[in-house]
Amino acid sequence: MKNRYSRQTMFSGIGRDGQKLLLDKHVLIVGAGALGSAAAETLARAGVGRITIIDRDYVEYSNLNRQQLYTENDAALPMPKARAAKERLEAVNSEITIEAVVGEADPAFLENLGTVDVIIDALDNFDTRMLLNDFSQKHGIPWIYGACVGSYGLTYTILPGESACLHCLMEDIPLDGETCDTVGIIAPAVQMVSSHQTTEAMKLLTEQPEKSRKTLLSFDLWSNETSEVQVETLKKAECPSCGEHAHHPFLQYENRAKSEVLCGRDAVQVRPGSRQYISLPDLKNRYENQVQKENPYLLVLQLEDKRFVIFEDGRTIIHGENDKAKARTLYQKYIGG
Ligand SMILES: [Zn+2]
Repeated sequence: MKNRYSRQTMFSGIGRDGQKLLLDKHVLIVGAGALGSAAAETLARAGVGRITIIDRDYVEYSNLNRQQLYTENDAALPMPKARAAKERLEAVNSEITIEAVVGEADPAFLENLGTVDVIIDALDNFDTRMLLNDFSQKHGIPWIYGACVGSYGLTYTILPGESACLHCLMEDIPLDGETCDTVGIIAPAVQMVSSHQTTEAMKLLTEQPEKSRKTLLSFDLWSNETSEVQVETLKKAECPSCGEHAHHPFLQYENRAKSEVLCGRDAVQVRPGSRQYISLPDLKNRYENQVQKENPYLLVLQLEDKRFVIFEDGRTIIHGENDKAKARTLYQKYIGG
């Protein structure tokens, strides 16, 4: 479409050359919640040529205050976030390629992606973040960390071979612990983190890494506080993720738990024991009186007093259960594996 990107080509930081570079690049967005929605929309509008977005969850009404790609209809169905995101992003920009994956960013997924130019962290859990950190270091792909909770946000751009990586910072800076849903969140905090993440992405995609922010930035919009920490000196020569003898421990499959408590959700996610095929139609036939909702991507069953949300890949979110072992037993009893 004519003039579509005119306001960016007029902007001296991007220009015509920068715009061509954007159209030629591939961004991976890991997570399609609040940060992922915001980043994906901005980068799709900006004309990044290929965007891959992966998410393991589905849309709920409680997402709508901040997850800007989704509608009431997506929550009613409910749609997996990655599918709903793809539909919306294609409506925003039909000239680029959007790849959406309903599932988890595990090592197999990451290693099969092909060339990726920048990774945007839009996750809500620390384990997968550390996996991304290792993947980025192993393949030399820049990634942009981002997190927010309440009115607080944090972001940091990691350039492999230059910056201290997330693993280097872990001991000295509290990066974990407050990612839980329990304290709530306001949309402007998301937008602020995402503004920093997407601007950093644009600098890197237009091949201007020297313009990237070198500090760890944090802010609290409600209490009007901002701080920037110089973290270059925290880079550790012995770091298992980016050091001289890096072995990328988080890329090892055996470090992955079979089930996981979803923070603040009164739910546990159970992964199938192996990558076996789960047939949603078969499950639907087996539990026809317990089916609450169904669509081509997931099945919602009410079993005992728990709500099971079963995805095509066999992953199941069991609501009303906070105990990993009990959730696993329930999974084996009703789903199999
Ligand atoms: Zn490191």
